[in-house]
Amino acid sequence: MMNWNDVIKYASKGSPEPDNKVMKTEDEWKAKLTREQFRITRKKETEMAFSGELCNIYDEGKYSCICCDTKLFDSTIKFESKSGWPSFTEPIKDNVIKYIKDSSMGMIRVEVMCNVCDGHLGHVFPDGPQPNEIRFCINSESIKLITQ
Ligand SMILES: [Zn+2]
Repeated sequence: MMNWNDVIKYASKGSPEPDNKVMKTEDEWKAKLTREQFRITRKKETEMAFSGELCNIYDEGKYSCICCDTKLFDSTIKFESKSGWPSFTEPIKDNVIKYIKDSSMGMIRVEVMCNVCDGHLGHVFPDGPQPNEIRFCINSESIKLITQ
């Protein structure tokens, strides 16, 4: 199970190489995504807390990137953080997430992106539940649940 030291290591040295890369132009992403999905994943915006439809969904399945369909999180490690955003304790594989130190908004945070298409997902914080105490705080608009 990954821990906060892994997050810091990946943020400074880079994540393991992804299995593949997906690159599209801004116009191609615009054509594929809804306006809200584009605003969040390609422009690093954040949806309003408690607005995402996946916040209160705990069905079994895998959460994949809305942009490139890479599987990112498993439903079994989703938890109720009461933060207003879907929250997870670790990614499906270490190489599907990219970690970037983000010093915007006057604080140091770690941004998480899809490592395959560089889509913005959200942030990761060291205040999650035991045992690894990590909270991936992910925009509902950045992911979709695949139930089969
Ligand atoms: Zn992606």
